Amino acid sequence: MYKPDNVKTSPDFPIPDTMRAWVLGDPDQLTLTTKPVPVPKRAEVLVRIDAVAICATDLEIISHGPPAMIQGGLPYNKNFTPGHEYMGTVAALGPGVDEYNIGDRVTVEIHAGCGQCKRCREGMYTSCHNYGLNYGDVDKGHRANGFTTDGGFAEYAINSINTLVRISDEMSDEEATLVVTAGTAMYGLTELGGLVAGESVVITGPGPIGLLGVAVAKALGAHPVILTGTRDNRLKIGLELGADYVINAKNEDPVAAVRKLNGGKGVDYVVECSGAPEAVNEAARMVNRGGRICLAAFPGKPAEVDIAYIVRNNIYIYGIRGEGKSATHRAEAFMAQKRFDATKVHTHTFALEDLPTALKYARERIEDAIKVVVKTHGHAAMNRVAAE
Ligand SMILES: [Zn+2]
Ligand SMILES: [Zn+2]
Repeated sequence: MYKPDNVKTSPDFPIPDTMRAWVLGDPDQLTLTTKPVPVPKRAEVLVRIDAVAICATDLEIISHGPPAMIQGGLPYNKNFTPGHEYMGTVAALGPGVDEYNIGDRVTVEIHAGCGQCKRCREGMYTSCHNYGLNYGDVDKGHRANGFTTDGGFAEYAINSINTLVRISDEMSDEEATLVVTAGTAMYGLTELGGLVAGESVVITGPGPIGLLGVAVAKALGAHPVILTGTRDNRLKIGLELGADYVINAKNEDPVAAVRKLNGGKGVDYVVECSGAPEAVNEAARMVNRGGRICLAAFPGKPAEVDIAYIVRNNIYIYGIRGEGKSATHRAEAFMAQKRFDATKVHTHTFALEDLPTALKYARERIEDAIKVVVKTHGHAAMNRVAAE
């Protein structure tokens, strides 16, 4: 039985020595294997993973590698377990940890910065200057679950206490996996200067971050909130999450439609979540003079940008990475208060052993899949046990 030195465990949460974990071999090759249950160090806990959501970035990593970086390079054939949008239960405490108890339900942020570089000290731990320096003889303390360290497609994972967000029993496992997605949208709006109630915002791209961006912007008091996209079923969910207007870019010119909806001047903010090649130029024409654009998606190729237009109109452009400045805690506060129903973007649930099917659903958007969740414990996993 798992009982490492200086690690606090509890008889209420017996932990096996080994666990099931998916491991990435060559590109697109995932194998369900057995690994030792990892051991938390100072300021870390062991989290029993109860549910993990699949993100478009997981699909990128599994097929192409970046932005994951393991041992300074591509993540293939390094015994690496991807997956980063997970929640679970604190199962063991590293030395000195008294901030959490065994049995606490938590959802987790992805990035634990080194805590000592300039950016970490500013709360920008997703931009840590020691990113990925956590292998071999080099250990700067930086961790990014499922990017630079083992992630959540497994039964257990290590997390710095800085990345934990306590959740109430009222929040389902599936909803809790979405806190970090809402947190990313919250971080984007924070970096734009903190949306002020009554200011206008456009969200481009109704993926999970875009849809929850609508919900967070609305909860912050933005008005109007406009969502643009090309899929009616997703735009409809945007309306349910609080969008005042939706624009289907297949049916009308989104720039003209946005400007018309806001008195011809354009809006105060655009949060770009589509990654489309023309997105930056369109966003620049959607904001008013002096407006601000947050880029939260990355296009597959370099894009041509009309810089002269941006300069002439004093438009500010921000790139964000992930969920810095404890934005996840603020997003969780909205969700705990039921200011919006994030579960509207959750569409499918599979058991851990069915991860390849779950990834296929997410990649091919089978049955209009948006957020696909894999459950390690609970119903989906239990059904299988019952069937055996
Ligand atoms: Zn993600
Ligand atoms: Zn750092």
